[in-house]
Amino acid sequence: MKHKIIGILICMLLLANISTVLGNTSEIPRRNIAGIGPNLAPNPSFEEGNTMPVGWTYDPNTTGIFHWDSNYAHSGEKSVGILNLTNIYPYEIMWITTDFIPVNETINSSYMLSVWFKFIDIPNYQYAWIRILGYDISYQPTGGSGHGEGSSDTEWHQISGDTWYDHGQTKYVKLEIGQAFNLPYKPNPLIEIRFDDVYFGIWNIAPNTPTITGETNGKVRTLYDYTISTIDPNQDNVTYEIDWGDNTTQTTAFYKSGEEIIIPHIWGIERTYSVRVKAIDEYRAESDWATLTVTMPCSYNKPIPQFLESLFQRFPHAFPILRQLLGY
Ligand code: CA
Repeated sequence: MKHKIIGILICMLLLANISTVLGNTSEIPRRNIAGIGPNLAPNPSFEEGNTMPVGWTYDPNTTGIFHWDSNYAHSGEKSVGILNLTNIYPYEIMWITTDFIPVNETINSSYMLSVWFKFIDIPNYQYAWIRILGYDISYQPTGGSGHGEGSSDTEWHQISGDTWYDHGQTKYVKLEIGQAFNLPYKPNPLIEIRFDDVYFGIWNIAPNTPTITGETNGKVRTLYDYTISTIDPNQDNVTYEIDWGDNTTQTTAFYKSGEEIIIPHIWGIERTYSVRVKAIDEYRAESDWATLTVTMPCSYNKPIPQFLESLFQRFPHAFPILRQLLGY
């Protein structure tokens, strides 16, 4: 319990130092940790390279010692490590990807970063941490998302964090992995931490734009059924948010992906309504809005031939039956 509280404090510390374009993910259920999309992390098992692992580097100002060797490995032969940390600010002590990784391929999707970590000769509880840094189209920072996780043994553990991106802004990311420290944030120079098998990829995709069908030309004060459904690419359960266009909105319960639901609605005033509905999955990813135009009652909007219009204007009191038929 104590460790959990410290973990939360570390997370708050990590998150407090970055802008908050990303949502807090603590209340959201975690999907299978492996993610579902292809791994976008470069050289994820740190196997490739000559003097440094390809695609990764570290802050040259740090006072730590950075290892890349085959002394330890979670998979393959090599892993990276950090030893002799004496910097005060953990943010400057990390392995970081060298290139900008594009993340704008899929709108409304969520990405996950995870890595396996292992402490060597650990004397007490210590923390690993990971962070995603976002950049816009001009490579200017847009924010980030961090996650810390502790260990008191020398086994391999997996740390993961899921995140929501502002896709309107964030086009690229860089990935960071490092060690966080026991409170009050002093590094323990005796401890080495090793990292291996990084994963960064899409783990959740928003539901498709839903479909809504039902009466579009009806009568007021009459109950009509509207059928709504969508597909979630991950087969997640979805809830629907409906804006009936008459100042009433409603949010449904959760339904299975692909299930058709029927929602009745009654219209009070004779006019045209613009109904909107969107789907939200159980991880809070939202679809685009679907719209349905509903006219109550059926109105006759066909343009009147110009010669008839001139006729009506010229003889304003004539042709009452014709006027009524044309709704003029
Ligand atoms: Ca989904």
